[in-house]
Amino acid sequence: MSLKIDSILIHGGVDGDATTGAVNVPVYQTSTYRQDGLGKNRGWEYSRTGNPTRDALEKLIAELEGGKYGFAFASGLAAINTVLSLFKTGDKIVVSDNIYGGTFRILDKVFTNFGIEYKIVDTSDLEAVEATIDSDVKAVYVESPTNPLLVVTDLAEVASIAHKAGVLLIVDNTFLTPYLQRPLELGADIVIHSGTKYLGGHSDTVSGLAVVNDKEIADRLYYLQNAIGGVLAPWDSFLMIRGIKTLAVRMDRHVKNAQRIAEWLADSDYVDRVYYPGLKRDPGYEVQKKQADGAGAMISFVLKDRYDYRAFFEKLRLITLAESLGGVESLVSHPASMTHAAIPPEIRRQTGIVDELIRLSVGIEDADDLIQDLEQAILASEKGVI
Ligand SMILES: *Cc1c(COP(=O)(O)O)cnc(C)c1O
Repeated sequence: MSLKIDSILIHGGVDGDATTGAVNVPVYQTSTYRQDGLGKNRGWEYSRTGNPTRDALEKLIAELEGGKYGFAFASGLAAINTVLSLFKTGDKIVVSDNIYGGTFRILDKVFTNFGIEYKIVDTSDLEAVEATIDSDVKAVYVESPTNPLLVVTDLAEVASIAHKAGVLLIVDNTFLTPYLQRPLELGADIVIHSGTKYLGGHSDTVSGLAVVNDKEIADRLYYLQNAIGGVLAPWDSFLMIRGIKTLAVRMDRHVKNAQRIAEWLADSDYVDRVYYPGLKRDPGYEVQKKQADGAGAMISFVLKDRYDYRAFFEKLRLITLAESLGGVESLVSHPASMTHAAIPPEIRRQTGIVDELIRLSVGIEDADDLIQDLEQAILASEKGVI
């Protein structure tokens, strides 16, 4: 029976426990497994290599992304580390010019030590992507929408450019989740997630996921997952499966709240700029509408000069100043000093991550309460008033 995504979220992967009938996959909190004789095991040997709770999550995320093979890691960056380990000295990777700060950091400070270089490009500019791919480039790495400027890249177009050049397309789908966007169906070869964000959804677990369709890439990733060892623990795998069950209802509310708040901000006299691909005036609006089922719930904005952004963060009462995003509670952050501090100031400025930029992860609280909190904090941060 072919199920729609709302049902796969609840019944996909491994549906319950075959042995006991438990409706939830149990937490197999074990490091090892009894073997019945030399070379005779029951499918499980050691929990870095495989664990039934992790396996259930891996099958679930694969099914949700419309892929064949899923992998779960101890964090989004552990997933990224493992995927980047597919490459070798001399290889180059083309990356979106504003990406998650930690992704930039691992490329810039870790993989360069092994002779794997990166090139930064605005991946929403298809000609620029094409022009940047030379014979050393082995992959294009895209976030769409990007963190934190919500720049939208046409994934099907970039996939066809990448494949024409014989290189892989890797997409970080953290901001939208498979509920809103399925990059493999648009031609991507590898999808990556920080499960810490919307998939887990409750700001209580750090995790990472990767999904692929190609058997050969899957075999290599499985080998690397076991060889590097950054796997997700059984309890965290359980929490991820639990979080994913409510993804559809959470995302619906996240997106509805975000659309309202983005429109309210854009129509107000408080902001200089609002970045949200659900706004008709946003440069990514049409592509976003074409390739995804919603614009997500991340909004970035710059207040007018008469407001002090530092004071704004302190005046918020309901919305919490914190790293991370994608939880049920609304969080606000300052990319320049928090999530994107690892990116050198000149690159930050070039790409638009100005010091005044505010990033809002819209939660699922009442939208009127959120707007009220934003408005009182903006008014209280007016220069000369404070
Ligand atoms: C948070 C995040 C990551 C890193 O994931 P962790 O779980 O924090 O290691 C990668 N990409 C994006 C888009 C993120 O938001």
